[in-house]
Amino acid sequence: MTDRSSTPPLRAVRIAANCPTCGKPGATGYRPFCSKRCADIDLGRWLKEGYRVPTDEGPGEEEPGSGRGPTGQES
Ligand SMILES: [Zn+2]
Repeated sequence: MTDRSSTPPLRAVRIAANCPTCGKPGATGYRPFCSKRCADIDLGRWLKEGYRVPTDEGPGEEEPGSGRGPTGQES
């Protein structure tokens, strides 16, 4: 009889979550960030990208149909 269950599989017990901003190990309280500063940096980056969401619709620089008729004639 062979007892194979006596050998536990080797695997990482802890999954290290590194700081997304600088790559350092996360600190307790700021995880996954290493510090509040890095958390703020990442948050700011998120907000910036949030403001610059690429959309197909522009802010309305051109107003279609204003001053121009369907025939393309301007008066
Ligand atoms: Zn960091």
